Amino acid sequence: MTVQQKIKLGISSCLLGEKVRYDGGHKLDHFLRDTLGPYVEWTPVCPEVACGLPVPREAMHLTGSPDAPRLVTIGTGKDYTARMQQWARGRMRELEKAGLCGFIFKSRSPSCAIQEVMVHDPSGSPCASGSGIFALIFMEHFPLMPVEDEARLADPEKRENFMERILGPLHGLPLPALKYLNSK
Ligand code: SF4
Repeated sequence: MTVQQKIKLGISSCLLGEKVRYDGGHKLDHFLRDTLGPYVEWTPVCPEVACGLPVPREAMHLTGSPDAPRLVTIGTGKDYTARMQQWARGRMRELEKAGLCGFIFKSRSPSCAIQEVMVHDPSGSPCASGSGIFALIFMEHFPLMPVEDEARLADPEKRENFMERILGPLHGLPLPALKYLNSK
């Protein structure tokens, strides 16, 4: 595969090993970086850092209504929802120009999770599940874009399905190539 044929994917930055998490760490995913990576031109995005929050920073979670959750720091209750939403909507316009074929998000993040991140009630107890603030805005803006998270991609069936959606039709990769990548 030539450089020109690399597929363009967005990704939560911490999955590529960037130390952008609230605790200064990362969540490097070796399959994504080392096995899929040579075929991909990544557009890494860390919405929390990009919207102006520092590293390290106070951990956050989602609170309130699952339909319209708030992004709030766990210890001091600072509400960063408006900041994140305003930044994310502006970033969508830039991502439109990036020509992405898909996006791989970090699971269980109040900003990046595509699904099943806990939403907490006023007492701090989990009461429902929803999507992270950035991921939700992304999925609403690009409703037909294939999206997945690294946890779901650990399942061979889901991984193969995602890879077929992003690689097969656009790049004509033969099924054996997809199976090879999927076996890694
Ligand atoms: S999960 Fe998203 S917001 Fe959190 S560190 Fe990773 S890229 Fe940044």
